[in-house]
Amino acid sequence: MVKLKTIQEWREVANNPPKCCVNCDHYTDAYWSTDEICKRYNANPPQEYAESENECPEWVQMIPF
Ligand code: SF4
Repeated sequence: MVKLKTIQEWREVANNPPKCCVNCDHYTDAYWSTDEICKRYNANPPQEYAESENECPEWVQMIPF
């Protein structure tokens, strides 16, 4: 049986994902590596930046097209 608190916690995370490169649809992969690029800026963000939250105004999780 799933507890209501577990579902509420899952929804909280699902509705508020970390806004960083490694979790952005413009990033070419789901984790940082030296080969990954940001397709929006056609550049490879430094690892420290890629892992930082709320740094980029272009972050998007679902590209709207
Ligand atoms: S758009 Fe911004 S947040 Fe997304 S991968 Fe590029 S630099 Fe990172």
